[in-house]
Amino acid sequence: ESVVNRIAAGEVIQRPVSAVKELVENSLDANATSINVVVKDGGLKLIQVSDDGHGIRYEDLPILCERHTTSKLSKYEDLQSIKSMGFRGEALASMTYVGHVTVTTITKGHLHGYRVSYRDGVMENEPKACAAVKGTQIMVENLFYNMIARRKTLQNSSDDYTKIVDLLSRMAIHHTNVSFSCRKHGAARADVHSIATSSRLDSIRTVYGVSVASNLVQLEASEYNDSSSFVFKMDGYVSNSNYVAKKTTMVLFVNDRLVECAPLKRAVEIVYAATFPKASKPFIYMSIVLPPEHVDVNVHPTKREVSLLNQELIVEKIQSAVELKLRQSND
Ligand code: ADP
Ligand code: MG
Repeated sequence: ESVVNRIAAGEVIQRPVSAVKELVENSLDANATSINVVVKDGGLKLIQVSDDGHGIRYEDLPILCERHTTSKLSKYEDLQSIKSMGFRGEALASMTYVGHVTVTTITKGHLHGYRVSYRDGVMENEPKACAAVKGTQIMVENLFYNMIARRKTLQNSSDDYTKIVDLLSRMAIHHTNVSFSCRKHGAARADVHSIATSSRLDSIRTVYGVSVASNLVQLEASEYNDSSSFVFKMDGYVSNSNYVAKKTTMVLFVNDRLVECAPLKRAVEIVYAATFPKASKPFIYMSIVLPPEHVDVNVHPTKREVSLLNQELIVEKIQSAVELKLRQSND
């Protein structure tokens, strides 16, 4: 049974960056306003995510890392919207099958917190009382210690930390009311350091730099209605003709979840190249809001390639909106 669990867990948590994404999403779900990430050896030695969210109640600790334990199910009315959020109650459990998980947490109104470690879905010891300020810190140590081949592949690739920095940069410019940091263990300087702000542009400037932020065209928030009552909302930024980059950066959120959508990316690249023939590849930040039952993120569990109901129509509408804005900026 434990081999089956481990293999299943290895599907949910494919790389260190998948663990970071799940942990940060949990912190956001706990209403954190500050999320700090520390990484050692590209996440293989240590991933530590600390937040100032609402914490985990003492009585929830024994079952926290059991599969399909989630405190969030009651919030969703139908199966469809549960599905749209990805794996429910599987992330933390999975991490305990492929790494060593230690949780330190304190809930509001309590004088001290608790610390407890997990392995293979269960607590290793009774929760120990400890000092804590606010929120939750989750440490994942020795990720894939029991998956030798996976560990070897990842050890040889140096880009996992880069992937984590990239993930947090994307999260930071969408969740502008939350401050994020990400650093290597022992490093004085953070590689992502965003401060909560009310302005998306400020946040993009802090995270991606002036050369990106000063060369953007705003796609003003637009709502799309159809006779068939289908509606979506879109807003964002696309780079102008002065922007220089070899690769497209598309930061896409659908219903506040970071996803990928290859057809949409291609559509924007096409109008960008047509409008600015001499320009390089674009930078795009885009947030789309749709009825949850129109979104299917389960095409593949970790790639997060999203598929949307009426996708062709949505892509087409966004493409013309972007084209119009880019043209106006060019005049
Ligand atoms: P899910 O997010 O799908 O519910 P997870 O395995 O990611 O499942 O987390 C299990 C549960 O642990 C969550 O539902 C939540 O109650 C609790 N939890 C995890 N991380 C945090 C956190 N940082 N702050 C508060 N609660 C948390
Ligand atoms: Mg989760």
